Amino acid sequence: MIVEEVRLWKLTRRHVRERLEQGLIKGAILPTGSTEQHNEHLAMEHDTASAAYVAHQAALQLYPQVVVATPMAVGISEHWMEFPGTLSLRPENFFAVAYDICESLKRHGIEHIFICNGHAGNGPLGNQVEEFSAKLGIDIQFSSYWAAYSKDLVDELMATKDCPAHAAEFETSFAMAAFPENVHWKGVDYEAANLDIQSESYRPRDPVYFEGARDHATGKKGRVMADIAIDWVANKMQEMIES
Ligand SMILES: [Zn+2]
Repeated sequence: MIVEEVRLWKLTRRHVRERLEQGLIKGAILPTGSTEQHNEHLAMEHDTASAAYVAHQAALQLYPQVVVATPMAVGISEHWMEFPGTLSLRPENFFAVAYDICESLKRHGIEHIFICNGHAGNGPLGNQVEEFSAKLGIDIQFSSYWAAYSKDLVDELMATKDCPAHAAEFETSFAMAAFPENVHWKGVDYEAANLDIQSESYRPRDPVYFEGARDHATGKKGRVMADIAIDWVANKMQEMIES
């Protein structure tokens, strides 16, 4: 057995079979994210990468009781389609994929599934999980990992007092702590990009988020925020397993 590997897609069928036979696997975390624009400096995968990171670290805390299911790397991102590179699923397709993954896990005997979300646009999935749970007869819960942060904590740690925001101080700090290779400041010239943002509601916020990221993001605060989310998700999963 691979020591402390909890990511399902990294395991072999033998590993999974043996853990199940020994009754070791009690629950699964399914990360949901997006592939979408994250301003001028952050990689498209940010929401997927951050949800998967939180899920992975949380599952390691609970090893060997919890596995991480393969992250859903494309989410509901119609609102960002004006930015090239964004990929989007129609909500019904996104829900259907999530359901099928939960059903697959159930068929292998996993009865507690926590969906660890990293993209605000996927929020409507939260309204589906009660039905998923009822249909499959198992315990499925959904939450974005930033539900771990109280308003007081955000006010204390974030100079912009805004979280999650979009590709702003929080997400950029998280990336600097967890996967700094996804932060690309070199060559960024926001003014020269001459963005002609169509979304009226988002147009005034894009430069604010950009400045929040550029002027206030640090790996240090990203580390603190990531660790709080990891503990919160581990705790949530633990409660589900024990219920
Ligand atoms: Zn994001």
